[in-house]
Amino acid sequence: MKLSHRVADLKPSVGFELLNIANQMKEQGEDVVSLAIGELQWKTYLPIRRAGQKAIEEGYTKYSPSAGQKALRKKLAQQASQQFSIPFDCENVFISNGCKYVLYVLFQSLCDKGDEVLLPAPYWMSYPPLINFSGASLKVVPTQAEQSFKITPEELEKNINHNTKVFLLNSPNNPTSVIYTQKELKALGEILKRYPHVITVVDSIYDRLVFEGKYAPHLLNVQPDLRDRILAVSGASKNYLMTGWRLGWLFGPKELVKVFSSFQSQTVSCANSIVQRAFEQSFEECEEDIKEIIQKLIKSRNILLEKLDRVSSLKLFPSEGAFYLWLGVKAFIGKKYKGRILHSSKDIMEELLKDKKLLCICGEEFGMPGYIRLSYVAEEDAIKKAAVRLQEFFSEI
Ligand code: PLP
Repeated sequence: MKLSHRVADLKPSVGFELLNIANQMKEQGEDVVSLAIGELQWKTYLPIRRAGQKAIEEGYTKYSPSAGQKALRKKLAQQASQQFSIPFDCENVFISNGCKYVLYVLFQSLCDKGDEVLLPAPYWMSYPPLINFSGASLKVVPTQAEQSFKITPEELEKNINHNTKVFLLNSPNNPTSVIYTQKELKALGEILKRYPHVITVVDSIYDRLVFEGKYAPHLLNVQPDLRDRILAVSGASKNYLMTGWRLGWLFGPKELVKVFSSFQSQTVSCANSIVQRAFEQSFEECEEDIKEIIQKLIKSRNILLEKLDRVSSLKLFPSEGAFYLWLGVKAFIGKKYKGRILHSSKDIMEELLKDKKLLCICGEEFGMPGYIRLSYVAEEDAIKKAAVRLQEFFSEI
């Protein structure tokens, strides 16, 4: 059967493929440790779980308005007004089934063939397919380790042209876990001010999982004048351990929110009603849970850092939030491991899985070979086990 050009070269999401591999290995009784998927291993916070049950009992089981339930839009707008210190109201908020679908809707609504989307690398691996679906072309801008993998104002300006439609910025970042500072964001904003045809999409889905402060800094904090050209995207998956519930949202200009809602009304209709109600009723009660999770993450990060710091030639980039550790493995490429020459970070990923039963994701998937990403999302025991296996592996090369 001849398939559409949209899916002809489409590959399944790597994260989900690796999840399947890990599950299969576990079913076969293998002692596998997965540091691959970007999903914390603990249950959704208790207040949300309870609110979910209540929402079903109360009958929040019908369609919602296509832009989202009014009560949740209102609460999110209030929260955004506080976080960004600029007023937002309900009509600035668009709610959907996960941040990924929010991104899909916005690229479908904004971009056409001939448009360019600027994307700093390394990047979250779902951005390219989401952009490609819209027909726009991707302009990847590689960042440098010396700049902590952050795009500089000079690089941004050099890559903007009259076809640039969207600049996509992700902070805290997946896969590096670096966070742009207010100063860095301000400097990028100064460039963006000169190019009124460019819309900036800021994906800050990890913005509460930060090891300092309550929120990660945001472009809206430092460049409020740009608010008509900023789409601030986020969601509940990471901060609230709600990956499977599917809830994401954006703050943006009212005219655009209307367009996104029309698109949604003609595709998935609306975000899940039970989930919206549950979140609206409970997310403010989760502050202590978030603090607890952050403490666990800091501990896990430190366990890995402490062990891996002893491996010479391995480059560590300590994460500042989220739950990723970005490791530079270039020094091991070209070397031999148990008779096999390691030609790439992909080979390193494969050997780690085969020999040490450890799942991670190689830099190739994030648009930057020579690195691997570890998600420290597991229980402490599993993290300790992973740290030992990684140390052994790199010492044996
Ligand atoms: N944005 C980034 C940077 C991510 O890392 C992820 C998930 O890994 C998402 C968005 C997707 O979030 P959601 O589960 O809300 O679709």
